[in-house]
Order: sequence, then C-alpha cells, then structure tokens
Amino acid sequence: MGSRIITLPPDLVSKIAAGEVIERPASCVKELIENSIDAGAHKITCEVKGSGVPWITVIDDGEGMTSEEVELSVKPHTTSKLKGESDLWEIKNFGFRGEALPSMCRVAEVEISSRSKTESTGYYIEVKGGKLIEKRETARDFGTTVKVSNLFYNVPVRRKFLKSVATELRYITLVIQRLSIAYPDISFTLVHDEHEILSLQSQPIAQRITAIFGKDFMDTLAPVDYKDSEIRVWGYASKPYALSTTANQLIFVNNRPCKDKIVRKAVLDAYGTPFKDKLPSFIIFIETQPNSVDVNVHPRKEEVRFSDESLIYSAVLKGTREGLSIKGPFIRAPIKREGELELDGYKFWQLHNSYIFTQTKDGVLMIDQHAAHERVMYERITREQIMVQKLLFPVIIELSGIEQKFFYEFKDCFKQLGFEMDEFGEQTIRISAIPSVLKEFTSNEFKSMLLELQEYESVKDDKFMATAKLVACKSAIKSGTPLTYEEMESLVKQLLTANNPYFCPHGRPTMIRMTNEELSRKFGK
Ligand code: ADP
Ligand code: MG
Repeated sequence: MGSRIITLPPDLVSKIAAGEVIERPASCVKELIENSIDAGAHKITCEVKGSGVPWITVIDDGEGMTSEEVELSVKPHTTSKLKGESDLWEIKNFGFRGEALPSMCRVAEVEISSRSKTESTGYYIEVKGGKLIEKRETARDFGTTVKVSNLFYNVPVRRKFLKSVATELRYITLVIQRLSIAYPDISFTLVHDEHEILSLQSQPIAQRITAIFGKDFMDTLAPVDYKDSEIRVWGYASKPYALSTTANQLIFVNNRPCKDKIVRKAVLDAYGTPFKDKLPSFIIFIETQPNSVDVNVHPRKEEVRFSDESLIYSAVLKGTREGLSIKGPFIRAPIKREGELELDGYKFWQLHNSYIFTQTKDGVLMIDQHAAHERVMYERITREQIMVQKLLFPVIIELSGIEQKFFYEFKDCFKQLGFEMDEFGEQTIRISAIPSVLKEFTSNEFKSMLLELQEYESVKDDKFMATAKLVACKSAIKSGTPLTYEEMESLVKQLLTANNPYFCPHGRPTMIRMTNEELSRKFGK
C-alpha cells in the first residue's frame, strides 16, 4: 500500500489559498476598496452586476500604477506596502500580503486599467485562466479600475454556497458601509444593476453614520471619547435606555473594521446589566500603536490580536461608561444562580399585603415586596433604561429656602435620571418630564424628595446614587398594596435576576431564605 499522504497538485493548492481570501463577492469588494483606500483615493465607486458573480468593478481616483506595477500587482506576493519584515509589525495600511489580486486571478477573470500620476498614459491588462492574456496602453484619467468577472467559474462548490442576489448584495453593502464609516472623508458610491443604492459624499463622521443608519438611530447614541497614554477609544454607543433587539455593532482598530470579542465584551459590560433580548449598538474606534496590534492573524484580516488585552478591555470599559455617564460600582453580569434562587413551580402567596411567599428548588423565600421592588427599580434606573415620560401638564413648584438649597445641589442628578426641569424666577421651577418609573408625581412629592436628600449630608453617599435610591424608593410598590398573581410573578422573577438580589439599595434585606434542610431540622426530622 502506498502512502496515505500525497502532495496536492499546485493548481489545487492555489485554489485553496485563494479561497481563504476570496470567500464570496463581498470579499472582492472589500479587497478592491481597501486597495483604493491604500492608494489614497478620494472617490470610490463600486458597480455590481447581480450577486457580484457576473462582475464587480471598483473605480478609484487614487495614485494609480505604472506600466510595470500593473503587471506586478497580479503576481503572488507582490506588494508596494511592505519593504521588509520589520514593517510587518507596524502596519498602517490595509494591504501587506500581496495576495488579494492574485487570489482573484485564480478564481475569476480580472481586468485592470490604471494610470499613475507620474505617467502620461494608462495601462490595461487582462488575466484569464490565471494567465496574463493581454496588455496594452489605454487612455484614461489618473486612478485605477479593477473589474472581476465570472467569479468562481472554476470553483463550482464555492458558487453552490453563495446565497441569493439579495443576500450577497447585503454583504457587499455592509462591507462598503463599514469602510465608509472608517473613512468619512472619502466619497463612496454603490451601483447595483445600474441603480445607485448608496451615495455618500465626503462628510464628518457623525453625518456619515446618520447617512447610513438614519437620524433616529444617531439620536439614540451617546458619544464616547477616552484617552490615556497608550490608547484612544472613541465613537458612539447606545444610550442606556435605547437598547434594541436589532443592534449595529461596529469595531475599528486603527481604522480597520474588524470583529473583536474583547472590545465587544468591554462595551457590553459597561452597561452592567445582563441582556436578555436587547442589545446596545456601538461604533467604537480604537487607536493604538500599530506595533501593539497584530493584524496578520486572519486570512481575510477580519480579526486582530492585541498585545495587551486587559489594557484594551479596561480602556474600552472605562471609556464607554464615562461616555454613557453610567455611575456607581461596576458589577459583572450575575452568575447563574442555581437551586437557592431558582423558582420551583411558580407559586406565589401574598402575606399581609406586604410579603411574597414562594418556593425555590431547595427551599422557601419570604420576600419584602417594597424592598424587592426598590432593588429592581434601582438597578433599572442606574444601569439600564431611563425612560422618560413627558408630563401633559408641567408641574410648577415653589421652593422654600432649604428646598432650593437641595434642588441646586442635586439638580444634575435629577436630570441624569430623566427629569426635565427648568427654573424661572427666584424660587420657582417647572418640571416637564419625569423618569417613567415614577407612577404618580406631585409637587409635594418632589418637595419631600428634596428634603429626604438631607440624609445625604449625613450618609455621604455618592450624590447620584443617593438620588437614584430615592427615585427607586418612590417608584417601588408600597407595603400594604395587594398584588395580583402576575404582579408577584413578575416582581419575583425580576428580583431573582438582579445583580444584587439580596439587599435593597439602602442595604436592608429583600428576602429571608430557608432551605428544605433547615425546615426539616426545625421540625425535628
Ligand atoms: P496588497 O494590498 O496586500 O499589497 P494586493 O494584491 O491587494 O496586495 O495588491 C497588490 C499591489 O497592487 C498593491 O500593493 C498596490 O501596489 C497595487 N494596487 C492594487 N490595487 C491598487 C489601486 N486601486 N491603486 C493603486 N495601486 C493598487
Ligand atoms: Mg490589497
């Protein structure tokens, strides 16, 4: 019997290598546009026929290529972007491996026409079946046009894995959107089957994001900007109340769009709450020394590796929290609590209109409804959604001297919690919106809140936290309120998934637990 290990034929090897770079039409678009950006283009147009398999053209006004360069560009491992090994650890452009164009030549027909700024004429080449079949002069403006046709003509399996025209076009659009956000001063156009579907003029970043995702989306974002000696983290992230089931999450490392678990986790952790079905959107740019990121770890350069992951994590976490004004101690998403806080059978009884009695997998719980609700509300307003309710009739309040003192001292905290208020006259304020967790709201209630904040003086709590506790307390159901089964169920479930379910924000217990073991012991079993 011969050896089971054989040498693959070169043709197959080259198709395998090409397949890692060019996965689908959108990969061609990505590589071509990245080349145009590397060439310093100001205007990039991408034209696509159908799914991109028939043809894709990318036209730029960049620095172009000379006669010799055009021919070299399609040869394997030829690049103008790396001069030697040391450059590999300091990459500032998209390309460096010199394998995108040759890969496309292996799995498609490629035509390039280009004119360098240093030459008076342009050059045209055509590569078919992996071979240069034509080269001639051509009249054209500065810049480069690359057309990739008949993609995967020789790789039938790849074609089979491609999706519908609509899906492939969506991938192409996403690639262009991402790159266009990283380069808002470049104009981008996408034409599909002769219809212009994206047209972006050079503009500031915020306008670019708005042009792509819409104004409503932009309005839900808060700016993030953080800098220390090693790193700058900037961009935008959803305001805490604007989490959504459909999130746009974009990460750019030194302007390269990429996926990164660490950055993503740091942003999500910044919100502090575990997410059920709602997620934040974010567009985060990380700027750091090129030699502290390895961009050469993925065949399509979609991932990067940081030399110091914990530095990146903490900078992103900190930057995002500052940007969102999320205050208070950082608490990680809760660990799954098995047994002791796992409900068994969903049975609830209310005792004296004040306590809820229920059973867990390993015992019983007696829950103080007010303290429990206070905890739930507190976590919601400090780290989740601050939903604001506009008042139909603004509440006008005349403040006494002492009330006024506290009003000025805590005004910003109230605003941060969703109150909209303005002052008119010496001692009169008008409140036009309140956090929607507050069910009832009267001027007397607001006055009593101000006076309760006096306690802050003695407790020396963080001002924001003191105000949040007060709002949580005011919004929580009172002792003595009868609850329906559904209300009890919802309250208990929310409490059990809280970050800190055992205590109310003032530090009093929310529940008393007794395990089955303790019960048996007490009954002398
Ligand atoms: P890489 O980008 O890794 O260098 P590519 O195969 O993508 O490798 O491109 C090979 C070379 O062709 C580039 O280094 C560049 O010199 C040249 N090139 C490709 N596209 C363009 C373009 N649009 N404008 C100018 N030069 C280009
Ligand atoms: Mg390239």
